[in-house]
Amino acid sequence: MSPEENETYLSERREYEKLHRDHTREREKIYRAKPEVKAHRKKMRQERFQRIKDLPETLAYKRKASLKRTRSLKQQAISAYGERCVCCGENEFEFLSIDHKTPEAKKRDISRWKSHGTAGAGLYAHLRKEGWPKEDYQLLCMNCNFAKGKYGICPHQFSLTQRFNLSTEDILKI
Ligand SMILES: [Zn+2]
Ligand SMILES: [Zn+2]
Repeated sequence: MSPEENETYLSERREYEKLHRDHTREREKIYRAKPEVKAHRKKMRQERFQRIKDLPETLAYKRKASLKRTRSLKQQAISAYGERCVCCGENEFEFLSIDHKTPEAKKRDISRWKSHGTAGAGLYAHLRKEGWPKEDYQLLCMNCNFAKGKYGICPHQFSLTQRFNLSTEDILKI
């Protein structure tokens, strides 16, 4: 077939398919449902996946998709837990994280979900599945979370008298 003939053939075929689109689709559906065609298509898909799965573009795409998912889950968690640090009121997205209110809650989560489920996307996904339970979780900023973890209580929660061991009279003199 010459290129011109081929072009004519193709354009006629396109015309035909346009006119008989429904019919063509139906035929295609029947064709694709055949077990041997199904198996072949599956094999092609798998081969394609094997070819592209370790390409830098694929890895970059996966990484971007995973970051996007984490960010979206974190946004949902922040909305569900009141948008700001319960200790100091910080509301900057990057500074906020979910805090286990008690060491027992943290221990329980480690045994339930292993460490991948006790922070970040893993934790957000679990909490969403459970309807954002409030009993054991709260929103804290990194500063308050760190101080609470290290000292047991965030300095924001001390009154001046407790922090510096002063009496009320002493404070009035300052
Ligand atoms: Zn805070
Ligand atoms: Zn604080």
